Amino acid sequence: MTDISVLEVYSADDMMDAEFIRHVLAEQGIQARIIGESLQTIIGNLPAVWVTPRIWVCEEDFAQAEILVDEAKTEQRRRAALRKEWTCSHCGETNTADFEICWSCQEEDETQPSPHSKP
Ligand SMILES: [Zn+2]
Repeated sequence: MTDISVLEVYSADDMMDAEFIRHVLAEQGIQARIIGESLQTIIGNLPAVWVTPRIWVCEEDFAQAEILVDEAKTEQRRRAALRKEWTCSHCGETNTADFEICWSCQEEDETQPSPHSKP
């Protein structure tokens, strides 16, 4: 039996986050384990905050996994920022962030910095 050491590469916010990272790693051929998933079943009546899912990978995959996790989180934050909705102060309609002007009344979003809104 070969002695395989595993290392914690990431501590997730919740199970969704952990599954997301595991998926990212799996796509690159890295087998990752979520530690905390099974623990959650054992101590299922504890508040979720007690069990932080952690991502473990083999030592040999650690360096690459660390980079992938970092890239994935950066991308995730970028997308989250893009998804941010804004509410039109003129008509009250909700717009997704890719609209620079309100789809409903064509007014500019005053809550976001715009290069042509101020003189
Ligand atoms: Zn509007």
